[in-house]
Amino acid sequence: MKALDELTFDNRFARLGDAFSTHVLPEPLDEPRLVVASKAAMALLDLDPAVAETPVFAELFGGHKLWAEAEPRAMVYSGHQFGGYTPQLGDGRGLLLGEVYNEAGEHWDLHLKGAGMTPYSRMGDGRAVLRSSIREFLASEALHALGIPTSRALCVIGSSTPVWREKQERGAMVLRLAHSHIRFGHFEYFYYTKKPEQQAELAEHVLNLHYPECREQPEPYLAMFREIVERNAEMIAKWQAYGFCHGVMNTDNMSILGITFDFGPFAFLDDFDAHFICNHSDHEGRYSFSNQVPIGQWNLSALAQALTPFISVEALKEALGLYLPLYQAHYLDLMRRRLGLTTAEEDDQTLVEGLLKLMQNSGVDYTLFLRRLGDESATLAVARLRDDFVDMAGFDAWAERYKARVARDGDDTQEQRRERMHAVNPLYILRNYLAQNAITAAESGDYSEVRRLHDVLTRPFEEQAGMEQYAQRPPNWGKHLEISCSS
Ligand code: AMP
Ligand code: MG
Repeated sequence: MKALDELTFDNRFARLGDAFSTHVLPEPLDEPRLVVASKAAMALLDLDPAVAETPVFAELFGGHKLWAEAEPRAMVYSGHQFGGYTPQLGDGRGLLLGEVYNEAGEHWDLHLKGAGMTPYSRMGDGRAVLRSSIREFLASEALHALGIPTSRALCVIGSSTPVWREKQERGAMVLRLAHSHIRFGHFEYFYYTKKPEQQAELAEHVLNLHYPECREQPEPYLAMFREIVERNAEMIAKWQAYGFCHGVMNTDNMSILGITFDFGPFAFLDDFDAHFICNHSDHEGRYSFSNQVPIGQWNLSALAQALTPFISVEALKEALGLYLPLYQAHYLDLMRRRLGLTTAEEDDQTLVEGLLKLMQNSGVDYTLFLRRLGDESATLAVARLRDDFVDMAGFDAWAERYKARVARDGDDTQEQRRERMHAVNPLYILRNYLAQNAITAAESGDYSEVRRLHDVLTRPFEEQAGMEQYAQRPPNWGKHLEISCSS
């Protein structure tokens, strides 16, 4: 295990030079203090968890100190925001501090979000507030625990620095970890600014460092694009299966690695609602829950356009055609497992859709229903759960079909069924109201709630003694929280 000054850097992105990023020093926060740290994320850097409590930890991740080998850079990119192209975005408030190698030979980008103004800040102040930093921290670590590919979060550092949003808040920083911070929007930037040499350099960089196996293929760039399509299909299938709504699927927020990235006004569904819009600023519902699937493809098409200098349009189209069938296969596979099924039948798709429609019409809690379905035998579970449905006759018809399907699936004991289902059906998810409670306490200086919630969410499938309050439906106030982009 390492001390903080023992990290090993190798800043490969910084070496691409000034066409790709700009050297900027972090702007320190006043009175930096540890809000919460993730031991699991610290382990990725081989860091001794005890160092999180030392003053130098808050100084490093609060922008006061830097490692001698760090090379803080603001990256340039562009992207399609809500369907329209914005020619220049870039790290307006985050810095890539450098790339750290761990003992297993993996490298991790250290990205400090909320680190002050950069040449890409446009009208912004370069800051992130405590509220949104806690939300990003909790979401990253919660998604990871659910098995959903995501960037990770090492810690949140709070401060006394005033930051103005709709009201005065406090500045904070979140230290984000990912194998790369390259977005679809990086490729779009060099494509639309007509810089073919830099674009080729970027493509080589991504291919060599992140998709080396594609080098062996006859057309390495095409193989890489296909892999990106596949990873996105799988990631979005997991979002849909677990009720995660990203909220701002702009192409500048889409990772080239197919991981969940750039958390803003995200939400997990409480009641199942296919039309749910988690982003209060998304008036047209472009990024509503069910639209995430076609938008995933739209975003991949935007990336494909930017890759036309390297790959034929025909081949790009063919690769894009893989997205929907792959999405569907992953989604159905996960939903079968969530229903406790171990085999596949033609009609499973309609079995899933039928259940979701009933849940939608009755406002049934998505996570708790599926968890409780595994508590008992199919017969006992549906008998207990029918009370949650307004259309009881409709549910009874579905339940008969489900029981027959479970019977055809094969024999196992109730113990086996419960174990198998609970391993894929979380009891604890990051509900907006739980995050809000933790934020309210943290804003008044009490970090115990955010730490406890983080701890619970790292083991979402395991029933934890004394934590019943984290496995409840939201109270009424907690169902209608308005979350916007102003973070
Ligand atoms: P986001 O909605 O967080 O994905 O950000 C979109 C763009 O706005 C990115 O280029 C961000 O770096 C930039 N941005 C967001 N918030 C701020 C801020 N407070 N200060 C400067 N730039 C920001
Ligand atoms: Mg962003």
